Amino acid sequence: MEKEAAFAWKQQDFTEEAMTVIVTAYCPCSICCGKSDGITKSGTLAREQQTIAVDPDVIPLGSEVYLEGLGTFIAEDTGGAIKGNRIDIFMQDHNQALHFGIQKTKAYLINQKI
Ligand SMILES: [Zn+2]
Repeated sequence: MEKEAAFAWKQQDFTEEAMTVIVTAYCPCSICCGKSDGITKSGTLAREQQTIAVDPDVIPLGSEVYLEGLGTFIAEDTGGAIKGNRIDIFMQDHNQALHFGIQKTKAYLINQKI
């Protein structure tokens, strides 16, 4: 049901609409990524408090995304488990990423850049 909402949101005006998202965190280690070079799908070096992984069918890579209570991030990466309204926040430290757990917040697309 939430996944359907995510796709409905895609067709609306990003700047006005918020999408409820499930947020988790990951680090550049091989456990989280299957590799450990810290390079995102976009080819950039993943940076804490900047990089998030998204489903590019929902949020285009390169988008600036405001996550309520968490800050502003850039959709630079993707992940096998990141589908629909899931967002993964990049963190340097694996334990920090684990402790982040699973959170629910609202996502706003600030500036649609494709
Ligand atoms: Zn990790």
